[in-house]
Amino acid sequence: MSGGQVADVIVVGAGIIGAACAWRLAREGYRVRVVDNRRPGATAAGMGHLVCMDDNPAELALSAYSLQLWRGVTERMPAHCAWRGCGTLWLAEKPEEMAVAALKRARLAEYGVAAEALSSAQIAEREPMLRTGLAGGLQVPGDGILYAPNVARWLLADAGDAVSVSIGEASALEEGAVLLREGERLAAPRVVLACGLQADRLLARPLLKAKKGHLAITDRYPQRVRHQLVELGYGASAHASDGTSVAFNVQARPTGQLLIGSSRQFDSPGGALDMSVLAAMLARAQRFLPALAQMNIIRCWTGQRAASSDGLPLLGPHPQHPWLWLALGHEGLGVTTALGSAALIAAQIGRRRPEIDDTPYLAARMFATEGGRHE
Ligand SMILES: Cc1cc2nc3c(=O)[nH]c(=O)nc-3n(C[C@H](O)[C@H](O)[C@H](O)COP(=O)(O)OP(=O)(O)OC[C@H]3O[C@@H](n4cnc5c(N)ncnc54)[C@H](O)[C@@H]3O)c2cc1C
Repeated sequence: MSGGQVADVIVVGAGIIGAACAWRLAREGYRVRVVDNRRPGATAAGMGHLVCMDDNPAELALSAYSLQLWRGVTERMPAHCAWRGCGTLWLAEKPEEMAVAALKRARLAEYGVAAEALSSAQIAEREPMLRTGLAGGLQVPGDGILYAPNVARWLLADAGDAVSVSIGEASALEEGAVLLREGERLAAPRVVLACGLQADRLLARPLLKAKKGHLAITDRYPQRVRHQLVELGYGASAHASDGTSVAFNVQARPTGQLLIGSSRQFDSPGGALDMSVLAAMLARAQRFLPALAQMNIIRCWTGQRAASSDGLPLLGPHPQHPWLWLALGHEGLGVTTALGSAALIAAQIGRRRPEIDDTPYLAARMFATEGGRHE
């Protein structure tokens, strides 16, 4: 490190993505300074489902790779990270959805991800709280859950002395430096921008769109749900490019609470609950889990996912600023894909070949004009 530089790399943002980048870079021998303004972002609001999503090959490649990396660390996580290897049960409401389950199973198999097709009777036996008469489903045993805000803090601590954290608001970027609103100038040869939706302001460019999500959590009850339960129609809802959608998605927290999702809504800034969206989401959940009607919901909240225009994260150097890396736009999958994203960023910074092809995620694609030039 040369004079005046606070670290080899500055990471802006201490959500799950910034924390994972700092952790990975520290493991690769870099000294890292993380700057965070302590405002709750998507990590604080989300569900923490580690789920292998397969709506397109790039999403599947990154989730499968990242889940494999998570498996290497989950056993070491302290109890407050609340990791459970519960797997996901994807549910088919109607017989025709079993074709979606079969397709999903085949796609996952291509990436070495195991999944088991289940009949209607098997679903009823594995999750007796579900309504009877579902057509069947797919069990993905390698998925899991964790409590992402604590995992982000744990990753920063686990990196040891190589990572230091400053509380502050990044107000501008300069070549090899981050200017803080508080007046300080932090310099380093490389900067990784992992501050979620706020990146648009720092880059003076509309790269990300906010997609609001609602969540509700019940009181504690004797544990009766074993897997993360998701309807097979979730993918269509998650990838709707506009409009509002809800899908059944329930997680059994280790506390005995049920965490109920999910909704997606564009152009709904702020954190206010939208009662009609919440009602639709809860009605959908009750359709699959009728016993929810007898449970108390103790808290509802919202969070904003940072979505890119093609649904894939932006991972890579800024085309005009080779000292600046972007780790943004993880939408509804950033907890799952955090370690994979961090590994790709670290490989790029270290000028090494990444373990999976990083081309689909390179940030530069968002700066290309129609003629193929970079703006
Ligand atoms: C309702 C909901 C449910 C979700 N469920 C899941 C799920 O089940 N599974 C899954 O994989 N993903 C899920 N996600 C997505 C996941 O939570 C996000 O993709 C992920 O948390 C993004 O992390 P991040 O670090 O990029 O952003 P953030 O968590 O938003 O972190 C950004 C950080 O940067 C800081 N910051 C911002 N601006 C500045 C600045 N100028 N200076 C300094 N610091 C700054 C903020 O304070 C914040 O700490 C969900 C998201 C939501 C909203």
